[in-house]
Amino acid sequence: MAGVASAIHLLKKGQRVLLLDKIGIARETSYGNSGIIESSYVLPFAPPHWKNIPSILLGYNPYARISYPDGISQFPWMLNFYLKSQRKPRTQNGAAMRPLVENAIAEHEAIMNPAGAAHHISDHGRIKLHRTAQSFENSTYERQIIARNNVPFEILSVDQLRELEPDLKPNFQSAIRLSGSKRYTNPAKAIQCAADWFIGQGGHYKTVSVSSLEKRQGQWHVGTYCAKHVVICTGPWANEILKPLGHTFPLGVKRGYHQHFNSPAKIMHTLVDADEGYLICPMDQGIRITTGAEFAQLDTEPNPIQIAQALPKVKELIDIGDPAEQGAWMGTRPCMADSLPVIGQSGKHEGLWFNFGHGHCGITAGPSSARLLSEMVIGGATFCPPEPYSPKRFRQ
Ligand SMILES: Cc1cc2nc3c(=O)[nH]c(=O)nc-3n(C[C@H](O)[C@H](O)[C@H](O)COP(=O)(O)OP(=O)(O)OC[C@H]3O[C@@H](n4cnc5c(N)ncnc54)[C@H](O)[C@@H]3O)c2cc1C
Repeated sequence: MAGVASAIHLLKKGQRVLLLDKIGIARETSYGNSGIIESSYVLPFAPPHWKNIPSILLGYNPYARISYPDGISQFPWMLNFYLKSQRKPRTQNGAAMRPLVENAIAEHEAIMNPAGAAHHISDHGRIKLHRTAQSFENSTYERQIIARNNVPFEILSVDQLRELEPDLKPNFQSAIRLSGSKRYTNPAKAIQCAADWFIGQGGHYKTVSVSSLEKRQGQWHVGTYCAKHVVICTGPWANEILKPLGHTFPLGVKRGYHQHFNSPAKIMHTLVDADEGYLICPMDQGIRITTGAEFAQLDTEPNPIQIAQALPKVKELIDIGDPAEQGAWMGTRPCMADSLPVIGQSGKHEGLWFNFGHGHCGITAGPSSARLLSEMVIGGATFCPPEPYSPKRFRQ
């Protein structure tokens, strides 16, 4: 998402743009996510409650899992994330993210409507289900912050939600409907439409794996291509390209899985099981079940056990039916410990720009981050202050 949206915004500002991707458009994390355009985002993804830590360490909690032994290398990042997830910094980081998310729907529509992809966006957004009164009680602070930001939401009883979603079984206690959010019915197809529009408007695309980036005579060179400015939008793989240039960002790797099911249940909204850490996402391909985080190294073999762990809980809420495909898809969330993306110019190299690290909300914030990035590349006013996302906040 970050690459295609950046290419479009730069093209719209009159730049000649060449988009490179090693495998194709929206084939990695932007392919198989939960598709929520989360304008109601006010707080970063929460760390697990301490009561869940033993089950996470032992590997039987779908909310999060550590792949052993390679995931242990993520422990310093996890500690940093935990410290930045205390109430005060978490609230500040949520507020810092608001300019990129509050108008996210309009920013998506500005890209998707001309691309003929509006039909891939559904007005039925996100609903969070709480299984117990205690679980609902635990969301008090988040609801206060949502209200403080004037984000529309409704608290629904079991009967009220079942009026909206009659195929949902009543095995929950209450729900929160975030009416300001929308969802993609097929994120990859929508992003492909946007990329096709970019090419139709004169943008260029090549499938190329960037293995080295060199600056010679004021131009950046990638193989036979050269340009004055280069933007790195390679999500969790950013360090692979940037390390030789003296940049190593503290990127956490939170992998996630999905599998589609031919469910007889007709579900309209994306349903978040607040207590079990998975999502039920209605997509063109069927009901997509997406999982929480898996801490692993980038190249470790996939292990979709969190899907299997979530399924008994899914069945308590809907008739899930048979899998629509064998096996599960895996994506890799590019996560900074402060849950803020890295947008801006390198402090070491002129013309080297970054737009990555969007973690759990890279679909939502992709278009607005791309707009900000393009405004910075061109120079002049930006639609929001770029400082919270500066790459210079990290020691390099
Ligand atoms: C299960 C799951 C559910 C999610 N649900 C949501 C959601 O509902 N809403 C939301 O907002 N976010 C969600 N996210 C997060 C979101 O998907 C990511 O933040 C977002 O997709 C990241 O986009 P990106 O463009 O930065 O990375 P990617 O989509 O991973 O793109 C990076 C691109 O870089 C390319 N690349 C890498 N290395 C090279 C190289 N050397 N040369 C050339 N190209 C290279 C890759 O091929 C890839 O296409 C979810 C993530 C997961 C895993």
